[in-house]
Amino acid sequence: MRIGIDIGGTKTAAVVLDPGDGVLCAVTHPTGYGPAEVLATALRCVTELAEGVGCAPGDFRSIGIGIPGAVNTATGRVDHAVNLGLVGFDLGAELAHRIGAPVRVENDVNAAALGAYRWVRGAETEPGTPGSIAYLNLGTGLAAGIILDGELWRGSRGVAGEIGHIPVDPAGALCPCGQRGCLETISSGSGIVRQWPVPDGESAVRSLMVAATAGNSAAVGVRDGLFVGVATAIRLLFLSVDVQRVVLGGGVTTMGEPLLSGVHGVLREWAARSAFLGSLRLDERIQILPDTFPAAAIGAALIGENSWQK
Ligand SMILES: [Zn+2]
Repeated sequence: MRIGIDIGGTKTAAVVLDPGDGVLCAVTHPTGYGPAEVLATALRCVTELAEGVGCAPGDFRSIGIGIPGAVNTATGRVDHAVNLGLVGFDLGAELAHRIGAPVRVENDVNAAALGAYRWVRGAETEPGTPGSIAYLNLGTGLAAGIILDGELWRGSRGVAGEIGHIPVDPAGALCPCGQRGCLETISSGSGIVRQWPVPDGESAVRSLMVAATAGNSAAVGVRDGLFVGVATAIRLLFLSVDVQRVVLGGGVTTMGEPLLSGVHGVLREWAARSAFLGSLRLDERIQILPDTFPAAAIGAALIGENSWQK
């Protein structure tokens, strides 16, 4: 049995997978802030999952962790996870030492990409399982995880898929990365809040969609810009790595069907003007992950599945 832990900015979700990759048990807890709290939350998850399936914590074959930040996947060290208050923290080694099982740590979007890949394969009803997908995460930021021929592709420096920082508007807003007009400033949770501010505790995505549906012209502009930005990210992924599908996930995708139909509309408009794009049928090859599917936790459990033996 393998454990996957998705350590998010506000909550930590963890699952136990059986040998057939089915979810045996799942727990969720608020994520603490800082090294001691993050470690304690992960330990608590592992302990409860062990109780849930009736084994000792050290009996798990492997533990994988997905975390929002820059990680050294070889050592399990978290270089930076700003939202969690972690800098240079040996999360993998600390947890492995306490549990007595091997621990791997991965960036959360990459972990979710592995989970999304498993979801696509599981949902496949026709022969010919896709071997390559991109997972486009529309969360606070915008980033993609890329699975090529069934393997996670990190690139030479681990930044493969960081397409949120591709500038698309030279006159656009200044991005925290230092560039101007990045995709992330338009088509992400933070991009929406920047363009459509709401009081604390309110959902900017929901507020935007309600206002746009009611005909508020400013909201329509922000919403349509969001659709074009997401379609741009999708086109970029298809044309740069030629995956079979792009799977969308993350908080912004909770708007569901309106997002999908808005993005479909943009892709079809482009296809009508370009025989080349039209021939690729991009609009038929995108899907939204169900928001009940714990992609990052499941993907974390699958990290390095071929290289772990215990
Ligand atoms: Zn940027």
